Amino acid sequence: MPQPNSHIIVLGAGYAGLMAALRLAKKTDADIMLINTTGAFNERVRNHQLAARQRVGEHPLADILSGTRIYFLRGTVTALQLSGRRITVQNEMGQRDIGYDYLVYALGSHVRTDDVLGARDFAYTLDYVSAIPLAERLPEVSARGGRLLVVGGGNTGVETASELAETYRDLNVTLVTRRSFARNLSAGARAHIRKAFDRFGITFLENTAITKLEAGQALTQQGTTIPFDVCVWVGGFAVSGLARQAGLLVNERGQIMTGRCGLCLIRKCTPWATRPFRWKRLARRFGCRSTPRS
Ligand SMILES: Cc1cc2nc3c(=O)[nH]c(=O)nc-3n(C[C@H](O)[C@H](O)[C@H](O)COP(=O)(O)OP(=O)(O)OC[C@H]3O[C@@H](n4cnc5c(N)ncnc54)[C@H](O)[C@@H]3O)c2cc1C
Repeated sequence: MPQPNSHIIVLGAGYAGLMAALRLAKKTDADIMLINTTGAFNERVRNHQLAARQRVGEHPLADILSGTRIYFLRGTVTALQLSGRRITVQNEMGQRDIGYDYLVYALGSHVRTDDVLGARDFAYTLDYVSAIPLAERLPEVSARGGRLLVVGGGNTGVETASELAETYRDLNVTLVTRRSFARNLSAGARAHIRKAFDRFGITFLENTAITKLEAGQALTQQGTTIPFDVCVWVGGFAVSGLARQAGLLVNERGQIMTGRCGLCLIRKCTPWATRPFRWKRLARRFGCRSTPRS
């Protein structure tokens, strides 16, 4: 357990960070500061529903945190100085450095658009800031029987294509993926998805890699083009570069090499994480099974 009056900073108020902050506030005497770019908890797993204009509840952090001892700071963390145990936060008030005793790193991920030319400029993603304008655009495109191209055949792509095709029956939906769709699912589940795709009239193109996006069309590795009115890019997730910049041990995707659970404690600054027995206790508390690598 942290010393009384120690200062814990939790970075990110997604599922992992918010849960960690709430539990730490309940189970410790430490001062807890939670930092997040936006002032609301985004139910990210429902962003495809948001894009389909379904009612998805709003969750202001002020409401969730009211009555707790957690101090919330809205801002974007731009740097970590591990040796000095300080972080830098930028918000509308300017830039400030804040010290801590313990740091919880829970900055999550975002849809990766860097790998393919034009993906960032010509596609929507299912990150919150993109799902909202996408939701505004789709009714008009559907009304004229327009074309929606979903790039990415993982679970999120399948979920997105199905949700939008079901909501907008006049939309011509195509899902394209570089391998086969929903590869992590069983044969039975994939057969079920195929049936649903047929029911919703979704065209799906497997083994088709998109190499470039331009306004209104996608270029494939095979040299063909796929025209679209709206493109949604869900080709995979990427993580923040902060951990790498701070000198933490990360893998080639930038993920911190410490445990395999959704919540990572920074080992260099966290006695919990450098002492295995404490880490195990903490991991159990958060429902994680893994232990950090030495
Ligand atoms: C459409 C969609 C459907 C999904 N469906 C499922 C599903 O069915 N099941 C499932 O298990 N997973 C699903 N996922 C994945 C799931 O959303 C993520 O695994 C989960 O959100 C990760 O939680 P997290 O708390 O680690 O990070 P996040 O939920 O990404 O939260 C990170 C938080 O950190 C904040 N943040 C990031 N950078 C900074 C910064 N520099 N400064 C301050 N704040 C910052 C963000 O604003 C965010 O609030 C889905 C994802 C999408 C997009």
